[in-house]
Amino acid sequence: MTIWNLGSINADMIYAVPHLPGPGESLAATGMERFLGGKGANMSVAAARAGAQVAHIGAVGPDGRWAQDRLTEYGVDTRHIDGVEVPTGHAIIAVDAQGENNIILFPGSNHAISQDQLGQALSSAQQGGLLVMQNETNLQVEAAKMGRDLGLTVCYAAAPFQADAVQAVLPYLDFLILNEIEAEQLRQATGQSVTDLEVEHVIVTLGSKGARYYHRGTASDFPAYKVKAVDTTGAGDTFTGYVLAGMDRGMPMAQAVSQANRAAALMVTRHGTADVIPDLKEVREARF
Ligand code: ADP
Repeated sequence: MTIWNLGSINADMIYAVPHLPGPGESLAATGMERFLGGKGANMSVAAARAGAQVAHIGAVGPDGRWAQDRLTEYGVDTRHIDGVEVPTGHAIIAVDAQGENNIILFPGSNHAISQDQLGQALSSAQQGGLLVMQNETNLQVEAAKMGRDLGLTVCYAAAPFQADAVQAVLPYLDFLILNEIEAEQLRQATGQSVTDLEVEHVIVTLGSKGARYYHRGTASDFPAYKVKAVDTTGAGDTFTGYVLAGMDRGMPMAQAVSQANRAAALMVTRHGTADVIPDLKEVREARF
């Protein structure tokens, strides 16, 4: 089946700086690199590398064609990515000599996805397929409702966390994934813990402790693999993409989560985001 991903596409612009600039300061960067990023794009690449057929629904501006091309190169169906007259979503990331960073996020084209475009993309969705969203685009609720009506399995990664955004899609979800901090934010905002939610599958990722899967009142733990972590960026997105690919293939959830744990463990041993997400062969062959 196809995994439909209503997802963000960002240019991650990483500037090496001697120190993080203060108010009013002009500072020359000593280096600059541009990468494909955005939670949506990362998840599409992860699910595609895990062997799934992935169709990305999103938008890029005139400055973002390269990002769309890169997704195509990585095996993602990009026919439902629109070109819009808004700058492509991007992150301006300053990293100092100690590895400390600060980030400016500009949603840009990720908030310019049109309802027509969404409707047209999902008009070719087949019942039983998966739809995934994160909180970096517009139209999340519209997509969730459409997905439910079409008989798709509706999945949501609650990041970046915003209580009202999660609450708006909750009634339509079959699968919710969030990290430990987001689960706590949800509890504080709504008074509901993840066990109170009427969502069939819930996963809480626990960083170096692994992940916990909740299904109809039962929790199962999946301890993390022991690795030397060098960069945890994109670990959660890799994990989610692999879980989705497993679900799409009809794997038992425990197997999908175990595989995702392996993929994410391998991911944290690498610097970078979408470009370095491991493929299924690497994940299967990894020795931890
Ligand atoms: P996020 O990146 O969304 O904050 P987490 O930090 O919970 O998510 O990490 C997602 C997944 O990545 C974890 O469930 C685990 O599988 C893997 N992971 C993260 N950090 C480590 C680590 N230090 N060692 C091994 N696996 C890790």
